[in-house]
Amino acid sequence: MTYKSGPHFLQIPGPSHVPGRILRAIEQPTIDHRGPDFQALAKEVLAKVKPIFKTESPVVIFPSSGTGAWEAALVNTLTPGDKVLMFETGQFSTLWCELATRIGLVPELITGDWRHGVDAAAIEAKLVEDKSHEIKAVCVVHNETSTGVTSNIAAVRKAIDAANHPALFLVDTISGLASADYRHDEWGVDVTISGSQKGLMLPPGLGFNAVGPKAMKAAESGGINRSYWDWNHQVGMNRDGWFPYTPATNLLYGLKEACDMIMEEGLDNVFARHERWSEATRRAVKTWGLEVLCQNAEEHSPVLTAVVMPEGHDADKYREVVLDKFDMSLGSGLGKVKGRVFRIGHLGYFNDLMLMGTLSGVEMGLAVAGVPHTKGGAQAAMDYLTGNA
Ligand code: PLP
Repeated sequence: MTYKSGPHFLQIPGPSHVPGRILRAIEQPTIDHRGPDFQALAKEVLAKVKPIFKTESPVVIFPSSGTGAWEAALVNTLTPGDKVLMFETGQFSTLWCELATRIGLVPELITGDWRHGVDAAAIEAKLVEDKSHEIKAVCVVHNETSTGVTSNIAAVRKAIDAANHPALFLVDTISGLASADYRHDEWGVDVTISGSQKGLMLPPGLGFNAVGPKAMKAAESGGINRSYWDWNHQVGMNRDGWFPYTPATNLLYGLKEACDMIMEEGLDNVFARHERWSEATRRAVKTWGLEVLCQNAEEHSPVLTAVVMPEGHDADKYREVVLDKFDMSLGSGLGKVKGRVFRIGHLGYFNDLMLMGTLSGVEMGLAVAGVPHTKGGAQAAMDYLTGNA
């Protein structure tokens, strides 16, 4: 194996870089999860995570990946045979829809072109048609990590209200939370789903459900048979600082630190720096003469940029070259866009110089892999960053 000197560039859109401050917090000795120190930690961390979701409601924390948190949201609020309305923004909305089918729900996936966000008017039209209120939930992905497209969640809420429909509103912001503006309470979301390994700057391993009152009520009286994912048990015990099973103690140390870091910086500052890197990246892509997958200027993700490869060039082969020559991992194209796009993650514990290293690596990779492009993309990003320091 070739010796690689210096740090690896992990520029996939999550898992993202974990700061030393969080790693050091996680490194503390594991404590008794039935003892007073843990109780104090749990109470603190369960309170500190709420402002990140912009909610006053409980946030349930599972030792799980995001997929577990997807499943938890559905099994607590719906019953087998329930119709759910979903929107195909990309691979993750498609996977969530498949999961819903597997657990006995009947999803209708409104088709999308993977280059735009959720069409709120299409959601409204479906809900207006549903006179007998058979649709029990509307499920959308806020930041579609496979395409780099962010959807307007407030507009979807407005559409549900305009149709005067009682469906629950479930939103996946697994890759949006703590990077892209998100407001659980203000946007009238009933369940928000997230994960630890993206904007929260933690390793993978925690799944989140922020649970509004309407969703909690649905869970109290219904839901699909469940045990591990049950909110009722979990929220009841959380109130006193306990968990129904062995929690991921060390990741909770990390979560406390992550919440502190984010709040010290200020959420608006966090969002602003992500927007800035996203704009700088798009300027680089434009200069290279390549195309960004997202086609709507208002929907560009602050978290990642998906870049379309020129015809006749395979994105995965290009990514292999970048990994081999420059020790940088770029995100692969997923599902329908496999081999056609590569994704640049610019999220979390990151800064201007890391972005410049990333974009320089992308540009050098294009040259080494023989992908037709115009030089100067990294320079265009640098000009933007220096002009907007
Ligand atoms: N939803 C979105 C938007 C994601 O980006 C991901 C993972 O990247 C998932 C769901 C699935 O989460 P996990 O891989 O942690 O199970």
